[in-house]
Amino acid sequence: MSEATPTGHELTLTNTLTRGREIFVPQDPENVRMYVCGPTVYDYAHIGNARPVVVFDVLYRLLRHLYGEDHVTYVRNITDVDDKINARAAKEGVSIRDLTERTAAQFHADMHALGALDPTIEPRATEHIEDMKAMIETLVEKGNAYEAEDHVLFDVSSMADYGKLSGRSVEDMKAGARVEVAPYKKGPMDFVLWKPSKEGEPGWTSPCGIETPGRPGWHIECSAMAGKHLGKTFDIHGGGLDLTFPHHENELAQSRCSHGTQIMARYWLHNGFLQVEGEKMSKSLGNFFTVHELLDTDKVGGRKWPGLTIRLVLLMTQYRQPLDFTEKSLVEAEKLLDRWAELMKANETSLGFGRKPPEEIVTALCDDLNTPRAIAALHAFARDARKGEFTAAQKLTDALEFLGFNPKGMFSRAEKTEIASAADPALAERVEGLIAQRLAARAAKDWAEADRIRDELTSEGILLKDYKDKQTGEPKTSWEVSR
Ligand SMILES: [Zn+2]
Repeated sequence: MSEATPTGHELTLTNTLTRGREIFVPQDPENVRMYVCGPTVYDYAHIGNARPVVVFDVLYRLLRHLYGEDHVTYVRNITDVDDKINARAAKEGVSIRDLTERTAAQFHADMHALGALDPTIEPRATEHIEDMKAMIETLVEKGNAYEAEDHVLFDVSSMADYGKLSGRSVEDMKAGARVEVAPYKKGPMDFVLWKPSKEGEPGWTSPCGIETPGRPGWHIECSAMAGKHLGKTFDIHGGGLDLTFPHHENELAQSRCSHGTQIMARYWLHNGFLQVEGEKMSKSLGNFFTVHELLDTDKVGGRKWPGLTIRLVLLMTQYRQPLDFTEKSLVEAEKLLDRWAELMKANETSLGFGRKPPEEIVTALCDDLNTPRAIAALHAFARDARKGEFTAAQKLTDALEFLGFNPKGMFSRAEKTEIASAADPALAERVEGLIAQRLAARAAKDWAEADRIRDELTSEGILLKDYKDKQTGEPKTSWEVSR
């Protein structure tokens, strides 16, 4: 099989499983398949959670370019059953459903602000309980798992090369284990596939004829969802470095043993850790913050930060390297994006979508997702654009769009309205008329009518944004056409 992609590129990636750089060859170039572990929805995503989302978003965009938009399946799950969720819901006195729905919606809003595309499929753990139970029963039948005191546990000793992904031997793990070993475990490293639920905890009918209702362990959730949506084996499994052990090691063990395969995914990709101002992020050090706090509060640097500025900071470091997230880097990224936006405006570059990314950018990303090299190319385009080269300004625009810095997002509200009006004057006239009616309805406190007009426009793909005029303080509404 040829190692070049349909576009004639050669994509190399660093594979944690083999600890080396490898040329990426998908199992089926017609359907390139990637799984990335998604959020456990009990709290706001912090900036460390955002790094894999942005990193794998860039990889997803690259794969879509190399293999075609319809030939990539990207699955990122939502973990909506977990002990942390139960504990938080009890503490807040809200239902689990309310907590997980609210947190998932917040996660989507935050990641959209960072310019991340939605994955192709976003499965929820609670919708795959039957798949998990089937997998658990297969593991028991095959002798890889056992039942003990209403639990089902994976028997680590049943898998000869357990520990291969994280490069640990079972002996090392035993020596390093800090956890107190539950008496029902055969081996200290055996991990939970299913556990009993107490009164008041979410529970489902248990597998293997266990009478007490129970719930799945975290690891089996990903194995079942990946298997269901991507098949027994697939191409790329991604996530943060901190997930390598035990989460990914255990996912891999469950999937391989239940499916009877030699691999789960061919390429395991891990992004490096994220620090803040040179220190490990922690609540006690006061350097812990969420994406929401950066976007919508003045917690960092006494002001709000645009989502694309945060995105640029996250991409200034190659994904495998440790990243130091600093206020200084936010300031620098914002200056760069402002300067680039000015160059695009001055050159009146085309904002059309579906344009091709410059070759320099594709080559940089094919080099193990070398985003610093791609950003260096952006600097070079900007330099030439400043000398008056229109082609360079257009390349800058195309490159930014490709890297997820939707150039539309780099313009102010008023500018976006201006761009949309210029593109379709007839539409603009109608929208402006409806906005005027809506503002009048709002002034008359006729909220139902105001909402009706907004919904009418939203259904046509017109997004409204209310704001106050800085000079007069009067309520205004800007609009733009969503993609
Ligand atoms: Zn996972």
